[in-house]
Order: sequence, then structure tokens, then C-alpha cells
Amino acid sequence: MSFAPKPGVLDIAPYVGGRASIPGVTAPIKLSSNEGALGPSPKAMAAYAAAAADASLYPEGSAELLRAAVGEAFGLDPARIVCGNGSDELLTLLANAYLRPGDEVLFSAHAFLVYRIATLANSGVPVSVPEKNRTVDVDAMLAAVTPKTKLVYLANPNNPTGTYLPFDEVKRLHAGLRPGTLLVLDAAYAEFVRANDYDAGIALALDHDNVVMTRTFSKIYGLAGLRIGWALVPPAVADVLNRIRMPFNVSIPAQRAGAAALSDHDHVAAAVAHNTLWRDKLTTAIRGIGLKVDDSVCNFLLIRFPHEPGKTAVEADRYLCECGLILRGVASYGLPDCLRLTIGPADANQKVMTALAEFMARK
Ligand SMILES: *Cc1c(COP(=O)(O)O)cnc(C)c1O
Repeated sequence: MSFAPKPGVLDIAPYVGGRASIPGVTAPIKLSSNEGALGPSPKAMAAYAAAAADASLYPEGSAELLRAAVGEAFGLDPARIVCGNGSDELLTLLANAYLRPGDEVLFSAHAFLVYRIATLANSGVPVSVPEKNRTVDVDAMLAAVTPKTKLVYLANPNNPTGTYLPFDEVKRLHAGLRPGTLLVLDAAYAEFVRANDYDAGIALALDHDNVVMTRTFSKIYGLAGLRIGWALVPPAVADVLNRIRMPFNVSIPAQRAGAAALSDHDHVAAAVAHNTLWRDKLTTAIRGIGLKVDDSVCNFLLIRFPHEPGKTAVEADRYLCECGLILRGVASYGLPDCLRLTIGPADANQKVMTALAEFMARK
């Protein structure tokens, strides 16, 4: 074959995002992609609109404006921050930079699918480690480490399970890795977590040459459409990523909107309060009608359906779609009995509770 791609590429199942439409339904409610329930900050929208006048200009190449804003918001040296076209780009660039064919990459059984894609795209070997009760199992992760382990991706908290590892466990995982293994802490949902034993890993990334933390503007900040993420990285990793990333990977409107979003503390606080309130209400209501839900620290819930004919996840999905509600099927994550529900605006959440109750009550 003359144009065969690199080994691994054809083993990739293309990433499929959350559905956005239902045939025959005019205005479906999309609760399938963990997008921010309150939408973007009005300040971010204004900054984005104002940037239209500069559309003819190239952005500053290193996203200096956004790195400075992130540095100020989090008390970090901007030189240790690399911005990306979504954190997906940064998660992928790490694999592009560090994996040699045959290198092993660890992640947990129900981890974010981008890790597998980035691994296979670089002819790496994905090593999927069993979880315990849909939670990352550090002992199992450490048992899977070999001299070939180059990268460890840990989504903390994890999507689609909604569970998290206490910081002590993250440190124990790190302590069990060799210095030549890079630990990537994907903290996409960090802002939603209200747990005293949770830590996104900033100090760990600052103190160690083999720890990276990634963050996103796609979830709490409600800016998924602008594609903005950032990573806190060791100096040597910053140097590497700055060599291989696209020269202008974060657009001017995205940088300005991101910076404005960081400054709108009230909007972030409102988003957290809304999420905490509805996470509790929805969890209680869904358990109340006989379905199983793990405690989530994120802006989504993983709902587990019975095997009983008429009550399965596939049938629930179909029923919800008839009601104009789009949840996320997670069979591709190895969770065929589950649907993932993004916590949405109040009226959407009410509709989901009603529809699920009807589904469970029907004969
Ligand atoms: C949504 C999500 C991201 C963020 O992706 P972006 O590319 O920044 O939009 C990263 N990791 C996990 C686990 C996610 O669920």
C-alpha cells in the first residue's frame, strides 16, 4: 500500500461529539456535551463581538494576552502556560511530542476518548486500566506501569463518570511513576468540584518536571465554541509544545473572550451555584424514580439503567428524544447501560426529570 498511514491511525474510531439534533424535532434541548448551562459571560460576548474589527490581523503567536490573563487569575508565571485550540489540542500535542512507536500510555477504563485517539495517532499503545466503581483505581494504574510507560492521562474529575480522585491519591499515583513518565492531569471540570480533598494539581505541576495540568474554557466558562484551553507545564515542556503547536493556534476573539471570562467572577460564581443546586436536585430525583447515579462532582450525571426490557438505556434515549431531549449515549466509553446527562438550564432540567419519571412509570 503506497499511502498507508502510520501504524495505529486506522485503529482510531473517529471521535463523535454529542448529538445536536433529533430528526423531526425543531428545537431540541441539547444536554449531550457538558456545555455551560448559563452560557458565556456577557463580558466575554462583548469582547468577542468587539474583536470583529481586528479580523484582518494575525493573533500574537504565543497567546500572550490570554497567558497573561490566566497567569494573573491563577497566580502563575505566564512562561509556564501554553494555550491551545481547546485543551484537546494540548492533550494531543503532548502525545505528538513525546510518544515513540510502541510507547505505552495509561488511562483508566472509562477515560476521555481523546487520550486513546492521541495515543494511536502516534503509534503508541493504549493501556486501559480497570476502574473500581467507575472511579480511577490508583493501585491498578500503578500495577500497569512498565518501563515503556511514557504518558499517564488522568482526567480528574473524570468524564463520563463524574467521579474524582482525592489529591492524596493523585500524589500517590505520581510518586509511583518514574521521572521519565509524564503525568497529565486533565482538570476540565475542576471549577465545578466542591470537595475539600480535591485539588486540580497546580502545585504538583509547579513542583515536578513530569507533571502537566490542562484546563478548558469549554465547560464552566461556557465558551466551547471558541475552542480555548490552557496547560500549566514544566519549562522544558513549554519549550517543546511551543515548537510543535500551530503558530497562531488561538484566535484573537478567543483570546479576548477568554480573558474577559476570567475576569467575570460573578458569572463563574453563578455557574457554580446553579450547578451545585441542580446536581443535587437531579441526583435525588433520578434516584427517587429507581435509577442509579453515582455522586458527581461535575456538571453532568452518569445515569445507569436496568437491563429489564422497556427500561434500558437505549430505550430511555429513544423516549427522551421523543420528548425533545438529547442526552449522551456512552457505549463508546464502555458504558452501554448508561446515559450521560449534562446539567442544563432550570427549565431543561425540569423537563428531563419529568420525562425520566414518565419513562420509568410507563408499562
Ligand atoms: C470537555 C473535556 C475537555 C475539554 O475539551 P476542549 O478541547 O477544551 O473543549 C477535556 N477533557 C475532558 C475530560 C473533557 O470532558
